[in-house]
Amino acid sequence: MSNIQKYKEFYKQSMENRDDFWQEQAKMIDWDTPFDSVLEYNNPPFAKWFHGGTLNLCQNAVDRHLADRGDQNAIVWVSTEEDKEVNITFAQLHKQVNEAAAVYKSLGVEKGDRILIYMPMIPQAVVAMLACVRIGAIHSVVFGGFAAHALASRIDDATPKVVVTADAGLRGGKTIAYQPLLDASYQQITITPPKVLLVNRGLAEGALGEGKYDWDEQMAKCAGQIVDPVMVESSHPSYILYTSGTTGTPKGVQRDTGGHAVAMRASMKHIYDLQPGETMFTGSDIGWVVGHSYIVYAPLLTGATTILYEGLPIRPDPGIWWSLIEKFKVSVMFTAPTAIRVLKKTGTDLINKYDLTSLRTLFLAGEPLDSETHRWISDALPGNVVDNYWQTETGWPILTNFAGIGLMENKFGSPTMPAYGFDVMLVDESTAEPVAANEKGSLMIKAPLPPGCMTTIWGDDKRFVETYFSRFGKEMYATFDYALRDEDGYYFIMGRDDDVINVAGHRLGTREIEEVLCKHSSVVEVAAVGVKDELKGQEVVAFVVSSDQTEAASESDLKALVSREIGAIARPKNIYMVSGLPKTRSGKVLRRAIRSMAEGEDPGDLPTIDDASVLESIIATIKKG
Ligand code: AMP
Repeated sequence: MSNIQKYKEFYKQSMENRDDFWQEQAKMIDWDTPFDSVLEYNNPPFAKWFHGGTLNLCQNAVDRHLADRGDQNAIVWVSTEEDKEVNITFAQLHKQVNEAAAVYKSLGVEKGDRILIYMPMIPQAVVAMLACVRIGAIHSVVFGGFAAHALASRIDDATPKVVVTADAGLRGGKTIAYQPLLDASYQQITITPPKVLLVNRGLAEGALGEGKYDWDEQMAKCAGQIVDPVMVESSHPSYILYTSGTTGTPKGVQRDTGGHAVAMRASMKHIYDLQPGETMFTGSDIGWVVGHSYIVYAPLLTGATTILYEGLPIRPDPGIWWSLIEKFKVSVMFTAPTAIRVLKKTGTDLINKYDLTSLRTLFLAGEPLDSETHRWISDALPGNVVDNYWQTETGWPILTNFAGIGLMENKFGSPTMPAYGFDVMLVDESTAEPVAANEKGSLMIKAPLPPGCMTTIWGDDKRFVETYFSRFGKEMYATFDYALRDEDGYYFIMGRDDDVINVAGHRLGTREIEEVLCKHSSVVEVAAVGVKDELKGQEVVAFVVSSDQTEAASESDLKALVSREIGAIARPKNIYMVSGLPKTRSGKVLRRAIRSMAEGEDPGDLPTIDDASVLESIIATIKKG
């Protein structure tokens, strides 16, 4: 049978014999109580996978490997920032996770409580996550690059009992102190300030005051303690991960426990093809979904070794990642296309310098992978390169090629075909009718979503339904991406259909950026859009209308405001001060026209525009630079 036939057969099983299919996958996970039904779906679109089963995620990721793999490395931490390398075996990880769980308990954390983790890429961050799920608490990891406002809105929404943080992160040799950012966010929150557990790396000054505890001291107090894993219902939330949408309020993507565990483990077998005992290197951050899934949970659930990397891909030189592949005999690597585009600029010499024969497959996801970069890296590496398409919401690939089934031929620019369990549909955006081959349509997924996908928005079931299941009814999940499928069944992603943008694989909501800019007293109105960028995919550009009553803010003041409140990733590349924004007669900002102009293109015909003269003035401002 050819690989494409094998794939088709496997996919068909997942669609036509859904329960048997997932029953089989669920055998790869330890259940404390077996589930009664594979899927309970009596309240669409809310799916309860493995209903009635109980399990513990930490037990599956750590304890179950102790007998066979206690001395095997679970985590290899490499920091090119601190010039350190630390190996942590499964036995050592077990000890640390138990102690951290005991610390949480001593701080009053119970099952169902939230713990917010605002950490750099250090092993304590992973320990903090695993200890959390060990006691049935729910973690919410916030990317360490986010700043005060972004952090505060997440704290307010998740209402954590404890925030785990560090004195500082490091980036490109620069120390980024976290405490001032956390303190500034505490000024903005509206809830009772959560307790703080602080890992002191000795990098930045910080005061431990009331409600603030030192990680090492607390761990020492709990040395040697064992905390039995709390068995939770399959549908019990394991974590919340905030992502951007079209409104300014971030959405807390909530993931269950049982479905998540099964989906992660199964993806290692069928998609990534990583065997227990092998090593995976995911160049991402634990603050993003790729980090949750493929730095932490999937490799550890598989009994594999995961490399946790703190640093840049080009420092000390652009060969650093390839040197790690050689040194640790990495079998599977995962990163974002932007990282490869950065490395591409430096050529292939540093790839050829290392023995990369252990690397079977490099997976790339998080943003569009342009054909040129796909071709370049495929030629440069001895192994395969696979583009996969997914979202924070799904937690694992929607479209991909399958190393575990047998790779199908790659088409550059295409993330191949739907993953088992995903009933992908391409429909006309106004009629919901399926589109023909090679025609652009909205990418939808027929509900129920497979195991491992978001189960709701934290604390807001209504928003979950309204956001994702309102376009064409509760049976269709909207990805908000356009795509087309060619005559061979390969999919091509054509970009988002909403105001969400993607900078270097990081998803940002333009609304959140606009709200922060509006905080400045001189700003009356603002439109932030994403414009094409060769390296990062997209960059933020903002158009600001200032008040006549106050002194206008400078461009650099406004850029600094965004960095301070959201984080450097959201910092606009350009800010243009304009006299007005193009709007319809009913007052709706014509964002597409603004984006075209920012990209140097003609805004096109705008029959609904209220005052066309603003276009001239915007074009003139952009030309001036
Ligand atoms: P995030 O939730 O941050 O992972 O962002 C998800 C969004 O990134 C998707 O909705 C797509 O717009 C985009 N995306 C992710 N992976 C790919 C890919 N392989 N090709 C094209 N776009 C992608």
